[in-house]
Amino acid sequence: MKGTNSMFDIIIIGSGPAGLSAAIYAKRANLNVAIAEKEYEGTGQIAESGNVNNYLGLPNINGYDLGEKFREHAVSLDVEFIEKEAVQIEAVQNGEKEESAIYRVKFDDDTIAEARALIYTAGAYPRKAGVPGEDEYTGKGVSYCAICDGAFYKGKTAAVLGGGDTALDDALYLSDICEKVYLVHRRDSFRGAQSTVELLKQKENVELVLNETVTEIYGEKKPTGIKLKSGRTLAVDGVFVAYGSVPQSELIKNLVQLDERGYVVAGEDGITYAATKNGDHDRSVQPGLYVAGDVRTKTLRQVVTAVSDGANAATTAAEYLRDINGYKQNI
Ligand code: NAP
Repeated sequence: MKGTNSMFDIIIIGSGPAGLSAAIYAKRANLNVAIAEKEYEGTGQIAESGNVNNYLGLPNINGYDLGEKFREHAVSLDVEFIEKEAVQIEAVQNGEKEESAIYRVKFDDDTIAEARALIYTAGAYPRKAGVPGEDEYTGKGVSYCAICDGAFYKGKTAAVLGGGDTALDDALYLSDICEKVYLVHRRDSFRGAQSTVELLKQKENVELVLNETVTEIYGEKKPTGIKLKSGRTLAVDGVFVAYGSVPQSELIKNLVQLDERGYVVAGEDGITYAATKNGDHDRSVQPGLYVAGDVRTKTLRQVVTAVSDGANAATTAAEYLRDINGYKQNI
Protein backbone atom coordinates (compact mmCIF):
# COMPACT_ATOMS: atom_id res chain seq x y z
CA MET A 1 0.00 0.00 0.00
CA LYS A 2 1.29 3.43 -0.91
CA GLY A 3 0.24 5.88 1.76
CA THR A 4 -0.86 9.43 1.03
CA ASN A 5 -2.17 9.47 4.57
CA SER A 6 -4.31 12.51 4.04
CA MET A 7 -6.40 13.00 7.18
CA PHE A 8 -9.85 14.52 6.80
CA ASP A 9 -12.61 15.25 9.25
CA ILE A 10 -15.04 13.42 6.98
CA ILE A 11 -14.63 11.26 3.91
CA ILE A 12 -17.81 10.80 1.90
CA ILE A 13 -18.00 7.74 -0.32
CA GLY A 14 -20.05 8.53 -3.42
CA SER A 15 -20.90 11.70 -5.31
CA GLY A 16 -24.59 11.24 -5.93
CA PRO A 17 -27.19 13.60 -4.46
CA ALA A 18 -26.74 12.18 -0.92
CA GLY A 19 -22.96 12.55 -1.01
CA LEU A 20 -22.96 16.02 -2.54
CA SER A 21 -25.60 17.21 -0.09
CA ALA A 22 -23.61 15.78 2.84
CA ALA A 23 -20.54 17.59 1.51
CA ILE A 24 -22.12 21.03 1.44
CA TYR A 25 -23.51 20.60 4.95
CA ALA A 26 -20.11 19.42 6.20
CA LYS A 27 -18.30 22.29 4.47
CA ARG A 28 -20.69 24.83 5.91
CA ALA A 29 -19.97 23.31 9.33
CA ASN A 30 -16.32 24.25 8.75
CA LEU A 31 -15.17 20.66 8.38
CA ASN A 32 -12.38 19.35 6.22
CA VAL A 33 -14.26 17.06 3.86
CA ALA A 34 -13.44 14.99 0.79
CA ILE A 35 -15.72 13.06 -1.55
CA ALA A 36 -14.33 9.86 -3.03
CA GLU A 37 -15.91 8.99 -6.36
CA LYS A 38 -15.15 6.18 -8.74
CA GLU A 39 -16.64 7.98 -11.72
CA TYR A 40 -14.77 11.13 -12.82
CA GLU A 41 -16.93 14.17 -12.07
CA GLY A 42 -19.86 11.90 -11.33
CA THR A 43 -23.26 12.79 -9.97
CA GLY A 44 -24.64 9.30 -9.42
CA GLN A 45 -27.56 7.58 -11.03
CA ILE A 46 -29.43 10.81 -11.57
CA ALA A 47 -27.19 11.58 -14.55
CA GLU A 48 -28.91 8.73 -16.38
CA SER A 49 -32.46 9.81 -15.56
CA GLY A 50 -34.52 11.56 -18.16
CA ASN A 51 -36.56 14.51 -17.02
CA VAL A 52 -37.04 14.82 -13.27
CA ASN A 53 -40.45 16.24 -12.52
CA ASN A 54 -40.79 15.60 -8.81
CA TYR A 55 -37.92 17.59 -7.32
CA LEU A 56 -39.43 20.50 -5.47
CA GLY A 57 -38.99 23.85 -7.14
CA LEU A 58 -37.28 22.56 -10.28
CA PRO A 59 -40.03 21.01 -12.41
CA ASN A 60 -39.07 19.49 -15.73
CA ILE A 61 -35.32 19.55 -15.19
CA ASN A 62 -33.16 17.01 -16.96
CA GLY A 63 -31.58 14.50 -14.52
CA TYR A 64 -28.12 15.22 -15.86
CA ASP A 65 -28.57 18.98 -15.37
CA LEU A 66 -29.90 18.53 -11.85
CA GLY A 67 -26.86 16.41 -10.97
CA GLU A 68 -24.57 19.08 -12.43
CA LYS A 69 -26.26 21.76 -10.30
CA PHE A 70 -25.69 19.65 -7.19
CA ARG A 71 -22.06 19.16 -8.12
CA GLU A 72 -21.47 22.84 -8.95
CA HIS A 73 -22.78 23.72 -5.51
CA ALA A 74 -20.23 21.44 -3.85
CA VAL A 75 -17.43 22.68 -6.12
CA SER A 76 -18.31 26.31 -5.29
CA LEU A 77 -17.63 25.50 -1.62
CA ASP A 78 -14.22 23.99 -2.46
CA VAL A 79 -15.13 20.45 -1.53
CA GLU A 80 -12.18 18.20 -2.32
CA PHE A 81 -12.84 15.34 -4.72
CA ILE A 82 -10.75 12.17 -4.67
CA GLU A 83 -11.22 10.71 -8.15
CA LYS A 84 -10.52 7.13 -7.20
CA GLU A 85 -12.49 4.03 -6.45
CA ALA A 86 -12.55 3.03 -2.79
CA VAL A 87 -11.76 -0.67 -2.57
CA GLN A 88 -11.49 -1.19 1.19
CA ILE A 89 -12.75 0.59 4.28
CA GLU A 90 -11.44 -0.17 7.74
CA ALA A 91 -12.35 1.28 11.11
CA VAL A 92 -9.25 1.34 13.26
CA GLN A 93 -9.25 2.09 16.93
CA ASN A 94 -8.49 5.72 17.64
CA GLY A 95 -5.81 5.51 20.32
CA GLU A 96 -6.63 8.97 21.62
CA LYS A 97 -10.37 8.54 22.06
CA GLU A 98 -11.82 5.24 23.12
CA GLU A 99 -15.34 5.81 21.84
CA SER A 100 -14.24 6.73 18.33
CA ALA A 101 -12.56 5.23 15.29
CA ILE A 102 -10.36 6.38 12.45
CA TYR A 103 -11.70 5.39 9.04
CA ARG A 104 -9.01 4.24 6.66
CA VAL A 105 -10.03 4.15 3.00
CA LYS A 106 -7.86 2.32 0.52
CA PHE A 107 -8.22 3.24 -3.15
CA ASP A 108 -7.72 1.30 -6.36
CA ASP A 109 -4.23 2.79 -6.82
CA ASP A 110 -3.24 1.55 -3.34
CA THR A 111 -3.22 5.03 -1.80
CA ILE A 112 -4.94 5.62 1.50
CA ALA A 113 -6.92 8.47 3.00
CA GLU A 114 -8.12 8.65 6.59
CA ALA A 115 -10.88 10.48 8.37
CA ARG A 116 -12.42 10.80 11.80
CA ALA A 117 -15.86 10.18 10.34
CA LEU A 118 -17.15 8.51 7.21
CA ILE A 119 -20.43 9.07 5.36
CA TYR A 120 -21.24 6.19 3.07
CA THR A 121 -23.49 7.07 0.15
CA ALA A 122 -22.62 4.44 -2.45
CA GLY A 123 -26.22 3.98 -3.60
CA ALA A 124 -28.20 1.09 -4.97
CA TYR A 125 -28.53 0.25 -8.59
CA PRO A 126 -31.57 -1.19 -10.29
CA ARG A 127 -31.07 -4.79 -11.30
CA LYS A 128 -30.91 -4.87 -15.07
CA ALA A 129 -32.86 -7.17 -17.31
CA GLY A 130 -29.64 -7.89 -19.20
CA VAL A 131 -31.25 -8.15 -22.62
CA PRO A 132 -30.29 -6.65 -25.98
CA GLY A 133 -31.62 -3.11 -26.39
CA GLU A 134 -31.76 -2.36 -22.65
CA ASP A 135 -28.61 -0.25 -22.45
CA GLU A 136 -29.20 1.32 -25.86
CA TYR A 137 -32.65 2.62 -24.88
CA THR A 138 -32.04 3.47 -21.23
CA GLY A 139 -33.30 7.01 -20.75
CA LYS A 140 -34.96 6.90 -24.19
CA GLY A 141 -37.77 4.47 -23.47
CA VAL A 142 -36.29 2.08 -20.93
CA SER A 143 -36.70 3.28 -17.35
CA TYR A 144 -36.20 1.91 -13.86
CA CYS A 145 -38.58 4.35 -12.16
CA ALA A 146 -42.25 4.67 -13.06
CA ILE A 147 -42.86 7.49 -10.59
CA CYS A 148 -40.06 9.49 -12.24
CA ASP A 149 -40.77 8.77 -15.92
CA GLY A 150 -44.36 7.50 -16.13
CA ALA A 151 -45.78 10.86 -17.19
CA PHE A 152 -43.88 10.65 -20.52
CA TYR A 153 -46.10 7.74 -21.52
CA LYS A 154 -49.45 9.49 -21.28
CA GLY A 155 -51.83 7.81 -23.72
CA LYS A 156 -49.11 5.37 -24.81
CA THR A 157 -48.33 1.69 -24.26
CA ALA A 158 -45.86 0.54 -21.62
CA ALA A 159 -44.55 -2.80 -20.40
CA VAL A 160 -43.61 -3.33 -16.76
CA LEU A 161 -41.20 -6.20 -16.11
CA GLY A 162 -41.22 -8.08 -12.80
CA GLY A 163 -43.62 -9.50 -10.24
CA GLY A 164 -42.66 -7.81 -6.96
CA ASP A 165 -44.41 -4.93 -5.22
CA THR A 166 -42.54 -2.37 -7.31
CA ALA A 167 -43.70 -3.96 -10.57
CA LEU A 168 -47.30 -4.22 -9.32
CA ASP A 169 -47.34 -0.65 -8.01
CA ASP A 170 -45.72 0.61 -11.21
CA ALA A 171 -48.29 -1.17 -13.37
CA LEU A 172 -51.11 0.27 -11.28
CA TYR A 173 -49.62 3.76 -11.41
CA LEU A 174 -49.08 3.57 -15.16
CA SER A 175 -52.59 2.22 -15.78
CA ASP A 176 -53.94 5.66 -14.85
CA ILE A 177 -51.59 7.36 -17.32
CA CYS A 178 -51.09 4.96 -20.23
CA GLU A 179 -53.57 3.68 -22.75
CA LYS A 180 -52.32 0.11 -22.25
CA VAL A 181 -49.99 -1.56 -19.76
CA TYR A 182 -48.50 -5.04 -20.05
CA LEU A 183 -47.17 -6.59 -16.85
CA VAL A 184 -44.66 -9.26 -17.84
CA HIS A 185 -43.67 -11.72 -15.11
CA ARG A 186 -41.66 -14.94 -15.31
CA ARG A 187 -43.97 -17.00 -13.07
CA ASP A 188 -47.73 -17.43 -12.74
CA SER A 189 -47.88 -16.08 -9.20
CA PHE A 190 -46.67 -12.76 -7.88
CA ARG A 191 -44.16 -12.03 -5.16
CA GLY A 192 -45.92 -8.71 -4.50
CA ALA A 193 -49.17 -8.01 -2.64
CA GLN A 194 -52.20 -10.01 -3.77
CA SER A 195 -54.41 -6.99 -3.05
CA THR A 196 -52.58 -5.03 -5.76
CA VAL A 197 -52.89 -7.98 -8.13
CA GLU A 198 -56.67 -7.89 -7.57
CA LEU A 199 -56.76 -4.17 -8.34
CA LEU A 200 -54.77 -4.75 -11.52
CA LYS A 201 -57.15 -7.49 -12.63
CA GLN A 202 -59.98 -4.97 -12.47
CA LYS A 203 -58.17 -2.59 -14.80
CA GLU A 204 -59.36 -2.98 -18.38
CA ASN A 205 -56.18 -1.55 -19.83
CA VAL A 206 -53.80 -3.88 -17.93
CA GLU A 207 -52.81 -7.23 -19.41
CA LEU A 208 -50.95 -9.73 -17.23
CA VAL A 209 -48.42 -11.62 -19.33
CA LEU A 210 -47.36 -14.56 -17.16
CA ASN A 211 -44.73 -17.28 -17.45
CA GLU A 212 -42.84 -15.02 -19.82
CA THR A 213 -39.57 -13.14 -19.80
CA VAL A 214 -38.34 -10.45 -22.11
CA THR A 215 -35.50 -11.50 -24.38
CA GLU A 216 -35.05 -8.30 -26.38
CA ILE A 217 -36.11 -4.67 -26.49
CA TYR A 218 -36.16 -3.47 -30.07
CA GLY A 219 -36.89 -0.30 -31.96
CA GLU A 220 -35.23 2.49 -33.87
CA LYS A 221 -34.48 5.78 -32.14
CA LYS A 222 -36.86 4.68 -29.39
CA PRO A 223 -38.20 1.27 -28.44
CA THR A 224 -41.12 0.03 -30.47
CA GLY A 225 -41.55 -3.39 -28.92
CA ILE A 226 -40.32 -6.27 -26.80
CA LYS A 227 -39.71 -9.87 -27.70
CA LEU A 228 -40.69 -12.61 -25.23
CA LYS A 229 -39.13 -16.02 -24.73
CA SER A 230 -42.18 -17.72 -26.28
CA GLY A 231 -41.52 -15.78 -29.46
CA ARG A 232 -44.50 -13.46 -28.90
CA THR A 233 -43.86 -9.76 -29.47
CA LEU A 234 -45.59 -6.82 -27.82
CA ALA A 235 -45.66 -3.35 -29.37
CA VAL A 236 -44.71 -0.85 -26.65
CA ASP A 237 -43.45 2.71 -26.38
CA GLY A 238 -41.77 2.28 -23.02
CA VAL A 239 -40.35 -0.46 -20.80
CA PHE A 240 -40.17 -0.20 -17.01
CA VAL A 241 -37.78 -2.72 -15.52
CA ALA A 242 -38.75 -3.59 -11.92
CA TYR A 243 -36.43 -6.47 -11.12
CA GLY A 244 -35.48 -5.12 -7.70
CA SER A 245 -32.33 -3.27 -6.78
CA VAL A 246 -28.83 -4.09 -5.69
CA PRO A 247 -27.43 -2.03 -2.80
CA GLN A 248 -23.73 -1.18 -2.98
CA SER A 249 -23.05 -2.10 0.64
CA GLU A 250 -20.16 -4.51 0.10
CA LEU A 251 -17.41 -2.15 1.32
CA ILE A 252 -18.84 -1.65 4.79
CA LYS A 253 -20.67 -4.94 5.31
CA ASN A 254 -18.27 -5.98 8.08
CA LEU A 255 -18.86 -2.78 10.03
CA VAL A 256 -22.63 -2.51 9.93
CA GLN A 257 -25.83 -4.47 10.00
CA LEU A 258 -27.40 -5.26 6.63
CA ASP A 259 -31.02 -6.24 6.14
CA GLU A 260 -31.92 -9.43 4.29
CA ARG A 261 -31.61 -7.66 0.93
CA GLY A 262 -28.23 -6.08 1.65
CA TYR A 263 -29.32 -2.55 2.59
CA VAL A 264 -27.50 -0.94 5.50
CA VAL A 265 -29.75 -0.70 8.54
CA ALA A 266 -29.61 2.99 9.38
CA GLY A 267 -31.98 5.68 10.52
CA GLU A 268 -32.85 9.04 9.02
CA ASP A 269 -29.95 10.53 10.98
CA GLY A 270 -27.56 8.19 9.16
CA ILE A 271 -26.67 6.27 12.31
CA THR A 272 -26.00 2.59 11.64
CA TYR A 273 -26.00 -0.50 13.79
CA ALA A 274 -22.58 -2.03 14.23
CA ALA A 275 -21.40 -5.51 13.26
CA THR A 276 -19.86 -7.55 16.04
CA LYS A 277 -16.60 -9.48 15.78
CA ASN A 278 -18.26 -12.90 15.72
CA GLY A 279 -20.27 -11.95 12.63
CA ASP A 280 -23.49 -11.28 14.53
CA HIS A 281 -24.91 -7.83 14.86
CA ASP A 282 -25.88 -5.88 17.88
CA ARG A 283 -27.68 -2.62 18.27
CA SER A 284 -24.66 -0.59 19.25
CA VAL A 285 -23.60 2.23 16.99
CA GLN A 286 -20.46 2.11 14.86
CA PRO A 287 -18.99 5.44 16.03
CA GLY A 288 -18.39 8.01 13.30
CA LEU A 289 -19.91 5.97 10.47
CA TYR A 290 -23.04 7.32 8.81
CA VAL A 291 -25.03 6.10 5.86
CA ALA A 292 -27.19 8.19 3.55
CA GLY A 293 -29.22 7.77 0.37
CA ASP A 294 -30.39 4.69 -1.49
CA VAL A 295 -27.99 2.28 0.24
CA ARG A 296 -29.78 2.57 3.59
CA THR A 297 -33.03 1.00 4.72
CA LYS A 298 -35.87 3.38 3.82
CA THR A 299 -39.23 3.42 2.11
CA LEU A 300 -38.79 5.97 -0.70
CA ARG A 301 -35.61 6.01 -2.78
CA GLN A 302 -35.74 9.30 -4.64
CA VAL A 303 -33.43 12.29 -5.18
CA VAL A 304 -35.31 14.38 -2.66
CA THR A 305 -34.91 11.78 0.10
CA ALA A 306 -31.23 11.21 -0.78
CA VAL A 307 -30.56 14.94 -0.49
CA SER A 308 -32.22 15.12 2.92
CA ASP A 309 -30.38 12.00 4.08
CA GLY A 310 -27.06 13.62 3.15
CA ALA A 311 -27.91 16.76 5.12
CA ASN A 312 -28.96 14.71 8.13
CA ALA A 313 -25.90 12.45 8.06
CA ALA A 314 -23.51 15.41 7.81
CA THR A 315 -25.25 17.15 10.67
CA THR A 316 -25.04 14.03 12.82
CA ALA A 317 -21.37 13.58 11.85
CA ALA A 318 -20.60 17.21 12.72
CA GLU A 319 -22.21 16.78 16.13
CA TYR A 320 -20.20 13.60 16.70
CA LEU A 321 -16.93 15.32 15.71
CA ARG A 322 -17.72 18.24 17.97
CA ASP A 323 -18.34 15.84 20.83
CA ILE A 324 -15.12 13.90 20.35
CA ASN A 325 -12.82 16.68 19.24
CA GLY A 326 -14.42 19.91 20.26
CA TYR A 327 -14.80 21.14 16.65
CA LYS A 328 -16.73 24.30 16.17
CA GLN A 329 -19.66 23.96 13.81
CA ASN A 330 -22.26 26.37 12.58
CA ILE A 331 -24.76 24.39 10.52
P1 NAP B 1 -38.40 -7.76 -5.55
O1 NAP B 1 -39.40 -8.02 -4.49
O2 NAP B 1 -37.03 -8.33 -5.42
O3 NAP B 1 -39.05 -8.28 -6.91
C1 NAP B 1 -38.30 -8.39 -8.08
C2 NAP B 1 -39.16 -9.06 -9.12
O4 NAP B 1 -38.40 -9.12 -10.31
C3 NAP B 1 -39.55 -10.49 -8.74
O5 NAP B 1 -40.89 -10.73 -9.10
C4 NAP B 1 -38.62 -11.35 -9.59
O6 NAP B 1 -39.21 -12.54 -10.05
C5 NAP B 1 -38.37 -10.46 -10.78
N1 NAP B 1 -37.06 -10.68 -11.37
C6 NAP B 1 -35.86 -10.43 -10.80
N2 NAP B 1 -34.86 -10.73 -11.65
C7 NAP B 1 -35.48 -11.21 -12.77
C8 NAP B 1 -34.99 -11.68 -14.01
N3 NAP B 1 -33.69 -11.74 -14.28
N4 NAP B 1 -35.89 -12.07 -14.95
C9 NAP B 1 -37.21 -12.02 -14.68
N5 NAP B 1 -37.74 -11.56 -13.52
C10 NAP B 1 -36.87 -11.16 -12.59
O7 NAP B 1 -38.16 -6.19 -5.81
P2 NAP B 1 -39.19 -4.97 -5.62
O8 NAP B 1 -40.49 -5.26 -6.26
O9 NAP B 1 -38.43 -3.77 -6.07
O10 NAP B 1 -39.42 -4.87 -4.08
C11 NAP B 1 -38.31 -4.74 -3.20
C12 NAP B 1 -38.82 -4.66 -1.75
O11 NAP B 1 -39.50 -3.44 -1.54
C13 NAP B 1 -39.80 -5.77 -1.41
O12 NAP B 1 -39.62 -6.15 -0.08
C14 NAP B 1 -41.13 -5.13 -1.57
O13 NAP B 1 -42.15 -5.72 -0.80
C15 NAP B 1 -40.84 -3.70 -1.12
N6 NAP B 1 -41.76 -2.76 -1.76
C16 NAP B 1 -42.94 -2.54 -1.15
C17 NAP B 1 -43.86 -1.71 -1.75
C18 NAP B 1 -45.18 -1.50 -1.08
O14 NAP B 1 -45.33 -1.94 0.05
N7 NAP B 1 -46.13 -0.84 -1.74
C19 NAP B 1 -43.59 -1.10 -2.98
C20 NAP B 1 -42.38 -1.36 -3.59
C21 NAP B 1 -41.47 -2.22 -2.97
P3 NAP B 1 -39.57 -13.73 -9.02
O15 NAP B 1 -40.74 -13.27 -8.25
O16 NAP B 1 -39.84 -14.88 -9.92
O17 NAP B 1 -38.34 -13.93 -8.18
